[in-house]
Amino acid sequence: MKRKAIGIISGKGGVGKTSLTAALASIVRTDNEINAIILDCDVDAPNLALILPAESNSKIESLDTFTTLKATFLEDKCVQCRQCIDDHFCEFNALKWEEENSIPTIDYLACEGCGACKVLCPEHAFEINTVKSGEIISYKTNITLPLIYGKTRLGSTTSGKLVSDVKEYAKQLDEFEDCNLILIDGPPGIGCPVIATVSGLDYIITITEPTPSGLHDLVRAIEVVQQFEIPFGIVINKFDLKSPFQDDFKEYIDNTGFYILGKIPFDLSIPKAMSYAEAVVDFAPNSDASLAIKAIYNNLKNALWNSR
Ligand code: SF4
Ligand code: SF4
Repeated sequence: MKRKAIGIISGKGGVGKTSLTAALASIVRTDNEINAIILDCDVDAPNLALILPAESNSKIESLDTFTTLKATFLEDKCVQCRQCIDDHFCEFNALKWEEENSIPTIDYLACEGCGACKVLCPEHAFEINTVKSGEIISYKTNITLPLIYGKTRLGSTTSGKLVSDVKEYAKQLDEFEDCNLILIDGPPGIGCPVIATVSGLDYIITITEPTPSGLHDLVRAIEVVQQFEIPFGIVINKFDLKSPFQDDFKEYIDNTGFYILGKIPFDLSIPKAMSYAEAVVDFAPNSDASLAIKAIYNNLKNALWNSR
């Protein structure tokens, strides 16, 4: 079977993206036709590892990444003229004046590494350097599949680059050669990390729920996917939620004709499974949610390998 890379994204956080990824990963490992690698590209809040921890004897590899630029102040060059503050060199308000020593200080979190202070200081008292921006962590999970995830460092401005690095890192694993499915837990939203995640994928699952914000953010997520002309299917989580918005949601789905990969009912097995840090298909294999996710997996396989 030809290798396929799929991403699970949502315009909005908290709609069940990671629960679905974990459940699909757990189903995949029992499918003899599939060799999968799992990626968590939600680098600003990676939590798939909580449900898929390392196998007890697995070695955990960690690689630091250095892609974020930050200013460094060179005190020995500074003549304390205060121009950097008085002329407002920094558009991001990252420069403050320290009265006690009469020197500027840099707010690390606010600094965007734009380089303006370096260019404008007449004494060349600022440098721009790369700093640690995050980590890539990989190991064999307790369900035997490899997991690779990125973790952004607080203050890093390069989450999208870290996502690309995670995807590249996966290609160097021994397991990559034989794998025919790359399953990616993507970030929420429509920003740089999402774009870096969906770029180059074969298929995308957009998960949502029938609420006003769910629909609003689904529309935005689909706009991103359509820019890349990648086939996609929608998963509606809590599809049977009693909500006055159900009619509007149904009308949107009916009018667009987008493919519904599956619907997951409201089922307390999912939050219970999460509280035990387990995939719902393992925690409650015969629950309504688990049966729905198994059906989604079958539809996904058809969409990936039988549609062309
Ligand atoms: S950093 Fe440059 S501009 Fe700011 S006080 Fe020092 S010399 Fe003046
Ligand atoms: S690099 Fe840019 S953002 Fe950072 S302190 Fe200098 S001017 Fe401000």
